[in-house]
Amino acid sequence: MKVVIIGASFAGVAAALEVRKKYSDAEIILLEKQTTLGYIPNGLHLYWENKISDLDAAYFITKEQLEKQNIHCYLEVSVEKIHTVHKSVDYIYDEKEATITYDKLIIATGSSQLSQKISGSGGESVLKYKRHHEAKAALAKVEASQSVAIIGAGQVGVEAADLLSQQQKQVTLIESMDYVLFKYFDQDMIQPLQQKMLEKGIDLRLNKTVSSIEAEVDQQATIRFGNEAVTSDTVILGVNVRPDLHFLDEHIRLHMDQTIAVDRYMRTSVEDVFAVGDCIQLTFGEDDETVYIPLVNNAVRTGVVAAANLIQPEMAFKGSLRTIGTSIFEYYIASTGITEAESLFTGQTVKAYRQEVRLTSLLDSDIVTIKWIYDEISHVLLGAQLISTSNMLEKINTLALAIQTKQTLEDLQQKDYFFHPAYSQMISATNFNSWQEVRDDENES
Ligand SMILES: Cc1cc2nc3c(=O)[nH]c(=O)nc-3n(C[C@H](O)[C@H](O)[C@H](O)COP(=O)(O)OP(=O)(O)OC[C@H]3O[C@@H](n4cnc5c(N)ncnc54)[C@H](O)[C@@H]3O)c2cc1C
Repeated sequence: MKVVIIGASFAGVAAALEVRKKYSDAEIILLEKQTTLGYIPNGLHLYWENKISDLDAAYFITKEQLEKQNIHCYLEVSVEKIHTVHKSVDYIYDEKEATITYDKLIIATGSSQLSQKISGSGGESVLKYKRHHEAKAALAKVEASQSVAIIGAGQVGVEAADLLSQQQKQVTLIESMDYVLFKYFDQDMIQPLQQKMLEKGIDLRLNKTVSSIEAEVDQQATIRFGNEAVTSDTVILGVNVRPDLHFLDEHIRLHMDQTIAVDRYMRTSVEDVFAVGDCIQLTFGEDDETVYIPLVNNAVRTGVVAAANLIQPEMAFKGSLRTIGTSIFEYYIASTGITEAESLFTGQTVKAYRQEVRLTSLLDSDIVTIKWIYDEISHVLLGAQLISTSNMLEKINTLALAIQTKQTLEDLQQKDYFFHPAYSQMISATNFNSWQEVRDDENES
């Protein structure tokens, strides 16, 4: 069986490794247009945070490691057209056209930082840094800048704002919603972080939709929103990413937003063609409706699912809960499942409960604020948000599993856990409980 995979990032690499695990004699070919593979998209943030000393260290896997597993990696190969009737892929390598055939094709071409709504956002002066060469260019440009404007207060934008303000840059962050990180958090939960951003001098412009970016002669850029404008040395595009699928043929069905339509087995509308990662929509939790959730864990899990279903459908994708965790502006924050704000659109009767819980048994221990979002009637957990000044990020994975396995608040009260006074409270923070001594309910709605 000859398996061709287009795109060698998280989704493509996960699919390749899983195909190798399942089919020892499969011929596996990864086609990647960059000069390297396995770059970590937030490499620049890792560098600014001093977690790595060089952008060249921001890789999760190498070509050599893959080739040791008999996975052939073709780099600097740009796929230009696929022909699903003839089962072939046309690509350009070294300015020459070539064609490769396949038995099974996996499309893992991901996404880029693009905006069709903001005129001028494709210009060179607008920084994007998902790829290694973009990050190198962005690093040099930011180092030479005093002021930076960031468009979009999602995870990428807020992380960048934090790291650049630590470098004494003047940071303006422009967001069309009325608070930051709205996809993952309710306003009440993210308020302390937003307050900290203001204290750190971030010029936060909320409820502002950017319409254009104009490059100025002196290398600066002017960003326009409504009747207002800001001018800065550098602009970072932190808005939602989008796929580029110009190479598909007409047989592959797309969604309205130009992502590839797949079923729960990652099968496209064409037999033997699968699509995974940031170029598809996914089911959110148990819903059959699909949405666009470009996150690494989805890319990896869909890659594994596609590999499992190459011959026949064996493993269905269980859905995404949009789980995230990060550390910004001196807080650790994490979220999984639906927010209370978005529950208004689900038709479900949802209740939310916010509580503060000590992280260890010691009386002076730091606290974590937890928001539980659950079904009013069944008490099944639907979403959770955490914020603390201590690193409690792993706890969100427990809560994601609780949602995936449909645990109720009562089940969570009975959840087994380890106790050690230095590391846990007399009852674990993720065991829903109602003793005032260990938790401080702020509100119930
Ligand atoms: C700055 C930044 C930081 C992020 N941080 C996080 C984070 O902390 N946590 C998280 O969960 N998510 C994060 N994300 C999102 C995450 O990067 C994506 O969800 C993830 O990279 C998707 O993986 P993928 O394999 O589907 O696609 P991609 O990583 O986009 O990779 C697609 C690959 O396909 C190749 N390709 C594309 N077209 C062609 C073609 N025609 N021919 C050949 N090759 C092609 C590309 O060169 C690329 O290597 C971040 C995104 C950005 C932009």
